[in-house]
Amino acid sequence: MAMKRVWIEEGCIVCNACETTCPEVFNVTEDSCTIRADVREDGKDTTNLSEKSALKGKFGDELADQIEEAAEGCPVEVIKFE
Ligand code: SF4
Repeated sequence: MAMKRVWIEEGCIVCNACETTCPEVFNVTEDSCTIRADVREDGKDTTNLSEKSALKGKFGDELADQIEEAAEGCPVEVIKFE
């Protein structure tokens, strides 16, 4: 099923698991994790917590399974999507 948007809630422990599972979407830095600008309609590189920007073009179809897998694998369950 197509996914509309993905974001990171507060509490990320920068473990890198999500980027390993889905590097197209998740960008883990030294102190945070962001949703990459390339896959967002607003072109920002943030957690997308306040923006809730939609996934751009076909990314919501193509990457839905990987994003879901990343969310399930997040040890602190801060990856949310709809
Ligand atoms: S898997 Fe979760 S805790 Fe780990 S870097 Fe990604 S968002 Fe942060």
